[in-house]
Amino acid sequence: MQIPPFSLSKQISLLGDDLNSALLRVLQSGQYIGGEEVNTFEESFAASIGVPHVVGCNSGTDALVLALRALDIGAGDEVITSSFSFFATAEAISAVGAKPIFVEIDPRDYLIDLSQIEKVINSATKAILPVHLFGCPVDMEQLMALAMKNGLKVIEDCAQACGAKWQGRSVGSWGDIGCFSFFPTKNLGAAGDGGCISTQDGQLAQRIRELAIHGMPRRYLHTELGYNSRLDAIQAAVLNVKLPHLANWVKKRDLVAKRYLDALDNLPGVELPSTKSTIHMLHAWNQFVVSVKDISSKDSLSSKLFSHQEMRSSNSPENQNRRDWLKNSLRNHGVNTIIYYPIPIHLQPAYSELGYTSGSLPITERLCSEVLSLPIFPEITFEEQNYVIKVIKNLLA
Ligand SMILES: *Cc1c(COP(=O)(O)O)cnc(C)c1O
Repeated sequence: MQIPPFSLSKQISLLGDDLNSALLRVLQSGQYIGGEEVNTFEESFAASIGVPHVVGCNSGTDALVLALRALDIGAGDEVITSSFSFFATAEAISAVGAKPIFVEIDPRDYLIDLSQIEKVINSATKAILPVHLFGCPVDMEQLMALAMKNGLKVIEDCAQACGAKWQGRSVGSWGDIGCFSFFPTKNLGAAGDGGCISTQDGQLAQRIRELAIHGMPRRYLHTELGYNSRLDAIQAAVLNVKLPHLANWVKKRDLVAKRYLDALDNLPGVELPSTKSTIHMLHAWNQFVVSVKDISSKDSLSSKLFSHQEMRSSNSPENQNRRDWLKNSLRNHGVNTIIYYPIPIHLQPAYSELGYTSGSLPITERLCSEVLSLPIFPEITFEEQNYVIKVIKNLLA
């Protein structure tokens, strides 16, 4: 049996006819940029998360850049975020000329540790950029109170959390601006790149609309330097077909997660994602991430980075990082997993000038050598998941 980490094809065949006719409709309309499909999507997505304004753009990365620009964040400014995320989170901050400031994460849920934020706030700090990583919502009530108290803006990175809620309120409806990605593997995936911003503020929405089309409030009048960043009509049409299914897909992801949580409880050296706040949140489970503790002493990130070659030569838990051993062993049994993320952002070569070193963020660094994302997607069958569970249990027993 071969189990993929995610599957796009099953969803496509389930939606088959609807997708085909939507795509044909756009092709024959000749309206490829903007138009009805995009307007319809912006309105229905806004309604689905409970905000008055949604503006489509080219990607989740662009959504972050547009949000930062619209809040006038740039050179000399600092933005607080976490290093345990996809690179784009920090890259967007740097793209507008500001500086990302990384704080530690809570090892139980991999999210920014709210108790560490105030320690790094200074006069240059302009905003907090929390990441609802793996689909797990940050405690937005506490985070907003913290931001309010310190006069900071909040931009939510909702790229992995489409469908997630905190206290019954959708992610992306709490902060000044929410940023979503419709990259194909996200919970709501387009057939290519796509993204959007969400906001309660009509003026911010208008500013972002203009920034996304070359800073152009009306045709051929350019009031500031902007971008060319639009959600294509073709992508909007795909998203219009998929959006009505999103809540059900998230429910299915939740069932898959619950089965893993039940079946993998109490495995030696394996920590499951925390369910500490389940009463307050709807987790969107874009990923089901376990952390595999290294029982041997060779668990530092640097030994992992530099002895990768040696590790490949022998696949036993004694000779390598236990997470890497588990990943390889699972693959040998047809269970394909992914590591999100093997190297924290603050240790990426592109960020060497920020001055972080190995040891700057010990929890983040340790987790990068322990995390493993198990197969999770709405269409995974009982049989497939039971197989994954059986293989994991056999390997770790
Ligand atoms: C995917 C992702 C992004 C970027 O989205 P793109 O649409 O790929 O540009 C940003 N932040 C996080 C946390 C992501 O997972």
